[in-house]
Amino acid sequence: MEFSLIDRIRQRTAQSRDDVRLGIGDDAALLAMPSGQELAMAIDTMVEGIHFPRDTVAADIGWKALAVNLSDLAAMGATPAWALLALTLPNANEAFIDGFADGFAQLAQMYRLALVGGDTTRGALTVSVAVHGFVPPGKALKRAGAQVGDAVLVTGTLGDAAGGLRMLQQDGRADAQSGYLIDRLNRPTPRVAAGLALRERANACIDVSDGLLADLGHICTASSVGAEIDTALLPRSSALLSLFDDASSLHFALSGGDDYELCFTVPAQRVASVQTDLAKLGCGATRIGRIVEGEGVKVRDANGQWLEPVQRGWDHFSA
Ligand code: ADP
Ligand code: MG
Repeated sequence: MEFSLIDRIRQRTAQSRDDVRLGIGDDAALLAMPSGQELAMAIDTMVEGIHFPRDTVAADIGWKALAVNLSDLAAMGATPAWALLALTLPNANEAFIDGFADGFAQLAQMYRLALVGGDTTRGALTVSVAVHGFVPPGKALKRAGAQVGDAVLVTGTLGDAAGGLRMLQQDGRADAQSGYLIDRLNRPTPRVAAGLALRERANACIDVSDGLLADLGHICTASSVGAEIDTALLPRSSALLSLFDDASSLHFALSGGDDYELCFTVPAQRVASVQTDLAKLGCGATRIGRIVEGEGVKVRDANGQWLEPVQRGWDHFSA
C-alpha cells in the first residue's frame, strides 16, 4: 500500500517509548520486553456493517478498534504497551485515514501505547488491532478462579451500547440522552485502571463484550461454578432508563453487547474495599449477585421469581 498512507498513520499516532527499539518502517518491529514480566496478547477484528454501523465516523472506528482490545488487556489485569494494526480499506481515502488515526491515537495516548507496525490492504473496510501488555508472572486475572460464595460485580453501567445501537437504528433523536448512549456504543471506555486494581483481589474477571449473561456464563464454565444475579441490582444509566421501558432496558443490560465493562468475582468480605478503590478510579462497581455451586447463570426478577432462559435470550423481555 502507498507509503504516504502508512506515513500518515505513523505521524498521527506517534508515541515514544524506550522499549520500542524499532517501530513502523521496517519488516518487523523490535521491542524490548521488561524483564520478569509476562506478555499478554490479544487481537480483535471489526468488520463494517457487522461490528460497527456503516456510517460510523472514522475517528470513532479508530477509537473503538483499539478500545475493544484494551478492554481484553484490562480483563487480564495487564498494562498496555504496544499495538499492531491491520487495516483493509476499499480505497485510499486520506480523510478516512486521518480521522481513523486520530481516534486511535486519542485513546492510545491515554495509555502511552505505541503503534509499532501493521499491514494495509485493499478490500471491504475491516480493522484488526493486536495489543500487547505486561503482567507480573502468575498475576493475570482469568475467567477461571471464581469461588462459591464470591460476590459478582460489574463496573459502570450495562446495556448502554445496545440502547445506543437501537437509537441509531430508529434514526435516534438528537437529544442528550440518546447522544450519551450512542457515544457509549462508539467510544467505549476500556477499564484498564480497574483491571490493574483488581489484580490479586478478584478471583475471576472478564470484559462484557457479548452481553452480561454470555460473559458471566464464560466465568461460570471456566470456574466450574454457577451464578445467581438479581435484575433489581443491575446498574442501568439514567439515559437508558429514560429512553426505554423497564423490560427493554433490562434486556439490553442482560444480553446487549459492546459495553466493555468488567464483570468479576471477589470474596464477599472484600466487596466494600474493592468498590471504594474502583470508585476512586472513576468507574465504580456494583454488586449484582453471587457465585453458587452448580452451573450456568440464573436470573431473579424484582419479585424474587427466577426467569426462564430461552436459548441465549430471555422470553420475559420483549425488546
Ligand atoms: P512489508 O511488505 O514488509 O510487510 P508494508 O508495506 O506492509 O511492508 O509495511 C511497511 C511498514 O509499515 C511496516 O513496518 C509495517 O509494520 C508498517 N505498516 C503497514 N501498514 C500499517 C498500518 N496500517 N499501521 C501501522 N503500521 C503499518
Ligand atoms: Mg506488510
